[in-house]
Amino acid sequence: MGPESFVLGGSLFYLGLLLAKTVLNIPFDLYRTFSIEERYQFNTTSASLWLSDVLKSTLLLLLGNGLLSAAALWLIQNSPDWWWLWVWGLLVAFTLLLMVISSRLLEPLFFTFSPISRPDLEAQIRRLAASTGIIATRVRQVDASRRSRHANAYFTGLGRQKRIVLFDTLLRQLNDHEVIAVLAHEIGHWRLHHLRWRLLLGVLASLIVSALAFLTLRNNSLAQWFGHPQISFAAQTVYFGLLCSLAASILRPLINSWSRHHERQADRFACGVIEQPQSLASALAKMAENNLSFPCPHPLFAWVYCSHPPLSERIKAIAAKRQNETDPARC
Ligand SMILES: [Zn+2]
Repeated sequence: MGPESFVLGGSLFYLGLLLAKTVLNIPFDLYRTFSIEERYQFNTTSASLWLSDVLKSTLLLLLGNGLLSAAALWLIQNSPDWWWLWVWGLLVAFTLLLMVISSRLLEPLFFTFSPISRPDLEAQIRRLAASTGIIATRVRQVDASRRSRHANAYFTGLGRQKRIVLFDTLLRQLNDHEVIAVLAHEIGHWRLHHLRWRLLLGVLASLIVSALAFLTLRNNSLAQWFGHPQISFAAQTVYFGLLCSLAASILRPLINSWSRHHERQADRFACGVIEQPQSLASALAKMAENNLSFPCPHPLFAWVYCSHPPLSERIKAIAAKRQNETDPARC
């Protein structure tokens, strides 16, 4: 195989697989959006908006993956013994780049951002941000209701400077105190360094995966284990990817229990910085009700699949914290 075909052939192979996966997913996405979500009155998207979303996201996906896989294959070809380190560096750099450009370049392709419709609430948000060490550069609402009735809030930005984004659906469902409580929870994740730990875990995991890929792919070892010694390097990485997704499912309960621990910590943080901790409980209850989330899943199901503790447990913990604060003898 010529040096060009290793990079070009490999990249086209990945793009072909990605395109096939996207096309195969279309009927499932149509069914999910226009049948399941429609049945429970979540869907608000139109056929033309759905189509434009699919086209834009597919183009971005192909462009990003095409560039990334061509660069990775070039590194593999030119540094046969150390590519796992360079490819890892490339993945980390790409992830950081996406974090920086996403809010300015990618999100505006899909959403419209505007100042929030409740000026009093914006003042309260800025007070909360200042009291918890955040510099709120912009507070915006996003027109999520054009697609669905699901609600959310998030913030982006590196360091203390944050852009706070609220879904317009969230603003319709919650009163001011409840919006502040939800944001306080999100700020809790930042103040308690959960986002940094998750990013670090991702960086470390990708280093381990890169090194394992190097060890299992050299000398065609993986292809021989699967009984296909003649297949290309790019095809072998697909086998490796399958093994990785198997390992990820095995590790899922562990990752989810770590995430639930973070959620409990962020709830406790929020209760400590807002005036009305019961607003967090009512916000969580309203969001669960509007999302038709099941409040008390079986403990085994929650342990394996849930990244957040069950609603009943969170509300009990908030009530217990308030009880402890109003009854000093119990502290
Ligand atoms: Zn959370």
